[in-house]
Amino acid sequence: MYRWIKSIIFLLMLVISLSISSTVYAATVKIDTDNLNIRNGPSLESDVIGQADTGETYQLNEREDGWVSIYFNNSIAWVSSEYVTISDENNEKNHDQTVHVQKDSIPTETKNNPNALLKNKVIVIDPGHGGRDVGAIGVSGGYEKKYVLHTAHNLKTYLEHLGAIVHLTRETDNYKMLSSRASYANYQRADVFLSLHYNSSPQYPSVKGIGTFFYDKNDETFASIMQEELIKSTNSEDRHAQFGDFQVLRTNHQPALLLELGFISNAAEELNIQTIAYQRKISQGVMAGLQKYFLMRETD
Ligand SMILES: [Zn+2]
Repeated sequence: MYRWIKSIIFLLMLVISLSISSTVYAATVKIDTDNLNIRNGPSLESDVIGQADTGETYQLNEREDGWVSIYFNNSIAWVSSEYVTISDENNEKNHDQTVHVQKDSIPTETKNNPNALLKNKVIVIDPGHGGRDVGAIGVSGGYEKKYVLHTAHNLKTYLEHLGAIVHLTRETDNYKMLSSRASYANYQRADVFLSLHYNSSPQYPSVKGIGTFFYDKNDETFASIMQEELIKSTNSEDRHAQFGDFQVLRTNHQPALLLELGFISNAAEELNIQTIAYQRKISQGVMAGLQKYFLMRETD
């Protein structure tokens, strides 16, 4: 009799733990080699954003021929499928590690489906300046127009991996009128328009940090959310969300923000801006900001 009860309890516990675990995580990706490159896209041309070693496990996002995408540092990243083993959902051995990875890597709000909030959202990214308009000039002589174009392409890659439909107001180093940038967002009926810039204040070379601007009062909360997430992910100095009378925002009928992502008149910040790590943090901050914003909009 006593044995009966014990085995029933054991079975009940097993069923409970299996049902909990299958809702908490999906399949895991175990790394089978050292120094495996982690990239921001499914190709050898994509930037290397980190490395993984034998035995590490990550949560599987999706598979694409020859590549596997995983959750890495709060976002989607890619590794070659040749050097990994994918384990199925109910493999008990990986239970503890998997839950641990998931807890650390996915924002709480979107734990169950981090991709869903950005899927099919139309996002227009506006890399500021371009062509004969070089924008601000950094301490090193680098142009703002070049830095923002790099940031825009990087951000586009990340957002597209989460299913967003991303349009850039300029793909290369060409000149675009301010009025056409805003009207492009209106034409695309963008869910969100983001104008990307790097700031400069040559008279005060120690000034640094990130600031977010809105024009329409309705975008004030969006700006605060975005600013908070950018500061959280980059640890940059907080220059706050504030009203800004910029033409790309003023003539925009879509939710629109202008992001000043750092000061290139500050030597250290200009150097930092050029690192893959900083660019990744910017993308992660923007993605987290967008997810929170869409979550808020959808639960309103
Ligand atoms: Zn600018």
